[in-house]
Amino acid sequence: MTRALLLGGTTEASLMARALAEAGIEAVFSYAGRTGAPRAQPLLTRVGGFGGVAGLVAYLRAEGISHVIDATHPFAAGMSRNAIAACAETGVPLIALERAPWAAGEGDDWTHVPDIPAAAAALPVEAERVFLAIGRMHLADFAGQPQHHYLLRLVDAPEGPLPLPQAEAVIASGPFTLEEDLALLRGHRIQRIVAKNAGGVGARAKLDAARALGLPVLLIDRPALPARATAETGDAVLHWLAHTTPPALRGV
Ligand code: NAP
Repeated sequence: MTRALLLGGTTEASLMARALAEAGIEAVFSYAGRTGAPRAQPLLTRVGGFGGVAGLVAYLRAEGISHVIDATHPFAAGMSRNAIAACAETGVPLIALERAPWAAGEGDDWTHVPDIPAAAAALPVEAERVFLAIGRMHLADFAGQPQHHYLLRLVDAPEGPLPLPQAEAVIASGPFTLEEDLALLRGHRIQRIVAKNAGGVGARAKLDAARALGLPVLLIDRPALPARATAETGDAVLHWLAHTTPPALRGV
């Protein structure tokens, strides 16, 4: 019997959850627990880390998980690496719902950088108004560029002081529309955007807005991951589920 574990925390994972529920497939949705009020899902939902690879191995066995679908954010590399290792150890088949990275089109002014520290180093010397669209975990990497005014967009209001001297946070969760992001960039007189190359639909609007306004973008490349099976769409994941038998069930 299929009992999938869906690793979530993204717009794409929520769409996948809906597709699984509509197809009547039993699945558990997993959140890391980073945000105060995670979006409700049409699946049984658990919240919190598993406790590394060993914890995930124990969870897969205890819960009788037959398949793992990794629909975490492309920058959630720790979780994705743990899923690869735990599935290799238990033999539970794994697929990653992997969105294609965004590619620049006509009118885009993008500079690609390999990681977050490289994005901070690539900021200009002269003070600018920067939309730092990288979440809240790595803001301190920009403390060495205190001359800029940073606009942040966070899911929850920050609990303590921000690690940047001139920063302002708007509290909102995606997906966002082009109109919303045009209004945000115009309203805050943004001159440059720093973003992760997440791909997908949920976070794309800020890049379309940057193009419309002629703003430069520093786009951070994804972290590298070990090889794994991937699918680009929810339909492809459903197909994989229907055609992939976990080793323990083979021959039954
Ligand atoms: P990460 O660095 O890859 O993961 C750190 C640890 O958090 C993992 O080892 C795991 O703890 C726990 N974890 C992460 N995702 C989990 C999940 N879906 N279910 C249960 N435990 C999970 O992750 P992150 O970058 O902090 O991202 C955390 C969550 O936010 C993910 O669900 C991700 O999809 C979402 N998110 C991340 C970003 C981003 O830019 N990184 C952006 C949007 C959304 P244990 O080792 O204890 O199992």
